[in-house]
Amino acid sequence: MRGIKFEAELDRAFARWATTVPGGERIRECIQCGACSAACPMSGYMDYTPRRIIALVKEGFKDEVLSSRTIWLCASCYACAVECPQGINITDFMYALKERAIKEGRYPKGLPTPIYAQEFARLVRARGRSTESLLVIRAALRLNPLRLLKLAPLGLRLLLRGRMGLRPEQVRDRAAVRAMLTASENAKSREE
Ligand code: SF4
Ligand code: SF4
Repeated sequence: MRGIKFEAELDRAFARWATTVPGGERIRECIQCGACSAACPMSGYMDYTPRRIIALVKEGFKDEVLSSRTIWLCASCYACAVECPQGINITDFMYALKERAIKEGRYPKGLPTPIYAQEFARLVRARGRSTESLLVIRAALRLNPLRLLKLAPLGLRLLLRGRMGLRPEQVRDRAAVRAMLTASENAKSREE
């Protein structure tokens, strides 16, 4: 993060939006105690600890938050949410930030997690289920196709042992799953 940022560069609309999404309703109550960061098993690897993410969001540091690795390193363990004395559900809030980062294409380039998240969502929308082998292939093609060569021996072993299949898995009523997802997306965009 740059040392100095001018107030005019902050995105107040982003700070307001944050209070309307699941987990963000109470972020204005954050007292910056740091209990979330202390409880977080991933904070040592994050560019901003959970406490700092909340502080940045509250002030409108949209670029820094959406392009941070923190939101993608969150392991959804809920330790922060359990420890927070203000009852802030940081874990759910991290999901809202991930969703926004994907929507705006602001996630850190080259980081596999956002790519996997997008391909997972596409598979579920198309077939109602995700197939591990297809997920890995599709993500690798976007991230680094050469990596597929490296993964091939492991993939072959898993295939031979029956631990992974190439046949796409799918539910019977795929249209119903799609209708459900569309309804939930429409409801969400009405709220925004
Ligand atoms: S534990 Fe809760 S109140 Fe304390 S810094 Fe984290 S989010 Fe804020
Ligand atoms: S849910 Fe995410 S941010 Fe919270 S403690 Fe676990 S890894 Fe850290």
